[in-house]
Amino acid sequence: MKILPNRMDYGFLKYQREFEDKALEVLRSGWYVLGKEVSAFEENFAAYTGAKYCVSLANGLEALQIAVRLLGIGPGDEVIVQANTYIASVMGITMNGATPVFVEPDGYYQIDADMIESCITEKTKAVMVVHLYGLVADMERIGAICKKHGLKLIEDCAQSHGAGYHGKMTGTFGDVGCFSFYPSKNLGAFGDGGAIVTDDEALAKEVKIFRNYGSEKRYYNKVVGMNSRLDELQAGLLNVRLAHMEEITRERQEIAERYQERLNNDQITLPMPREGTETVWHQYVIRCDKRQELIDYLDQREIGTIIHYPIPPHLSEAYAYLGHRKGDFPIAEGYADSVLSIPMYCGMTEEEQEWVTDAVNRFQERGLREQGKI
Ligand SMILES: *Cc1c(COP(=O)(O)O)cnc(C)c1O
Repeated sequence: MKILPNRMDYGFLKYQREFEDKALEVLRSGWYVLGKEVSAFEENFAAYTGAKYCVSLANGLEALQIAVRLLGIGPGDEVIVQANTYIASVMGITMNGATPVFVEPDGYYQIDADMIESCITEKTKAVMVVHLYGLVADMERIGAICKKHGLKLIEDCAQSHGAGYHGKMTGTFGDVGCFSFYPSKNLGAFGDGGAIVTDDEALAKEVKIFRNYGSEKRYYNKVVGMNSRLDELQAGLLNVRLAHMEEITRERQEIAERYQERLNNDQITLPMPREGTETVWHQYVIRCDKRQELIDYLDQREIGTIIHYPIPPHLSEAYAYLGHRKGDFPIAEGYADSVLSIPMYCGMTEEEQEWVTDAVNRFQERGLREQGKI
């Protein structure tokens, strides 16, 4: 049985008729940018998250970039961010000329709240939390630290649509929550998309102006902005998917529950949801010290896997100018060397999952096999 690490076609087929009807409706409407689908999506997504305002944008990176920018953060400022994130989080900071200050992750792959305060300097302006893999950071403690030190709190929720902490959704804890609707995200479009959510009316208004060349009224430009608009077609398709979001999330949670119950192998470390959090399992990430052996073993059984992410941003060529070296963040680097995402997607059958579970459970390190110890 051939199993891909992720499948986006299943997620389309499940609601195919609704997606096709909506696509035709938008195509026939004669209105393609900033129209009723975008307005409806912004209202629907704000209501879904529990935030007062949502402003849709072209993608998740620009959501981060614009959030950092409109919170007044720029050259000379520092933003604290976890060392094991996807590089886009960091780019959202550095595209504004600000400096990322990396912090090690905790045992849940999230920023280690215990290590934040020692990184605060007089230049620190904000903490950017990334709810990586759909797991959730320790928002209570991080919120208190930000308050105590007068720092802005930005949440990168590109992997955590619908995830919660003590019943409150990620994206609504700080000043601004940034989302991506890239097709493989839990709430995915059929192309690029993004949004910010906030309770700050003035900030929401500024983002709205900024995303449209800095103009509120056509051809009257207040600031030098960007073109970062979500289009009507994507907004329409997102409206369709958002209406099914509870079911979509539930399905991922059921797949994860089965993995949690059935995976059983001393060589493998399973992910662990933090107590009091609702996890949405953007990825199901295991760890294995003999990762390459495991990848090869699964590959022989036609099971695809992905490493999220093999190079932490501080060691990426793009950030050589920051002057970090291997060994600066040993926990993040250890994760980069051992994490592996096994198949997890909407529409995954029990049979497919059993195939993956059996294979992972049967994997044994080659050394042990060869010594006849197993
Ligand atoms: C996907 C992702 C982004 C970027 O979103 P795009 O829409 O692809 O620009 C940012 N941060 C994280 C954690 C992501 O997973």
